[in-house]
Amino acid sequence: MPSWIDFHTHILDSPALAVASLESQKAHVVRWLVNSIDLENYASFVQRSTDYPEAIVGLGWHPENVILLSEEKAPSVLKKYVPKLKSAPYLGETGLDFLYGKTDAQRALQKKVFARFIEWSLEHDKLIQVHTRHAKQEALDMLSDWRAEKVILHWFNGNKKQQELIIRNKWVCTVGPTILNSPHVDKFIDAQPLELLGLETDSPIPYDSVPSTPAYVARVASRVAEIKNVSIKDVAHAQQGIFSRFFPHLSLNSHAGK
Ligand SMILES: [Zn+2]
Repeated sequence: MPSWIDFHTHILDSPALAVASLESQKAHVVRWLVNSIDLENYASFVQRSTDYPEAIVGLGWHPENVILLSEEKAPSVLKKYVPKLKSAPYLGETGLDFLYGKTDAQRALQKKVFARFIEWSLEHDKLIQVHTRHAKQEALDMLSDWRAEKVILHWFNGNKKQQELIIRNKWVCTVGPTILNSPHVDKFIDAQPLELLGLETDSPIPYDSVPSTPAYVARVASRVAEIKNVSIKDVAHAQQGIFSRFFPHLSLNSHAGK
């Protein structure tokens, strides 16, 4: 039975976490990359993760949350991240969101914070999880300018030119349960090398009005195998390869210790 990783979730937010964990175990989803959206959320996730050894908690500041703050306050908040950088296993969620960031000032602030996260990921040689809603090209340009290395582009689907840049830089794109009903993404998935294609759920967000769990990764895997005309085993092997590339010191088996 193959083992799976949910490369992008917020499941520690779920009120039904114990059930989600059981479902996830049954589906052999053995690791969750749980993204935080601000410092407070990070602290609460780190605490909650002590009961869920499968969870690996990212240190993040979501672009939607960045703009809740005035520009003058951003530097002092960024300073508070610095002492946490060393112990955080990875950075995320960060990035740009121009659906919510509408004004020039909001977008500039998101870019300022995102740039610091990219810089930190390079300084500390850590994975960065990037959100790119309505700002795909801008986010790719920034990653490219900074020569970012260990990157996951969350829930990503782009044009041919963008995909070529991503592949050249060996950045990983993740896809989630929406691919089960969105044939327009098939072309992107087909062109993405298996070793640069991660699976995720963004759980607990609902699909068809049902809150999702990391267990959904198994279904996403089947669809990817179908689109790429490869075996489930090949898909699982690629997922494990991505995991060990980004977390060389962590075992896939969470019970063997973090
Ligand atoms: Zn997210």
